[in-house]
Amino acid sequence: MQVTTTIAYIGLGSNLAEPIKQVQFAIEKLKNIAQSKVIKVSSLYLSKPMGPQDQDDYINAVLALETTLTPIELLDTLQHIENEAGRVRKENRWGARILDLDIILFGNEIINTERLTVPHYGMRVREFVLLPLAEIAADLVIPAAIGEEQQSVRFLSQNIANNAMVKLSLD
Ligand code: ATP
Ligand code: MG
Ligand code: MG
Repeated sequence: MQVTTTIAYIGLGSNLAEPIKQVQFAIEKLKNIAQSKVIKVSSLYLSKPMGPQDQDDYINAVLALETTLTPIELLDTLQHIENEAGRVRKENRWGARILDLDIILFGNEIINTERLTVPHYGMRVREFVLLPLAEIAADLVIPAAIGEEQQSVRFLSQNIANNAMVKLSLD
């Protein structure tokens, strides 16, 4: 059987229950998932909430994962880690959460299914995705459907309005 190795980029976010620890917990968990290897991790960033403003600031990061999991297997694994962190799914979109793990990119794949939209639909306009992603993969060109413009992470990250993101140095 042929095994395909893909580099997936995962976006991490938290704004509850000691968010720095939540993101660090998720990074450690991701280092131990099956058929996968974490190959790059961005710095942690402090960002302002998107949507409802009556919630705490977020901690965000992006990491690169070399994996032979399928996209759905990876999503299941990420949701399992979110649940382990104690995430409770609520009705209010973009509300406070203990841990959010999104698949930003999965190699060059374009996926549009009920459970998965890849590239992540918000990645081109969210500074808390683009800035950490640019730190570890500025040269990446985001896969585009036929007729859509091809854009690099560097270009998008340099042109995004930066809503006061702060890169943390934890040493
Ligand atoms: P947003 O999608 O705007 O970042 P969110 O991350 O808070 O919001 P969730 O509640 O974490 O949204 O996820 C809702 C659903 O989104 C998941 O159950 C999952 O099936 C779906 N989904 C679609 N595309 C992706 C993706 N690329 N990564 C993770 N989840 C995705
Ligand atoms: Mg999200
Ligand atoms: Mg999510």
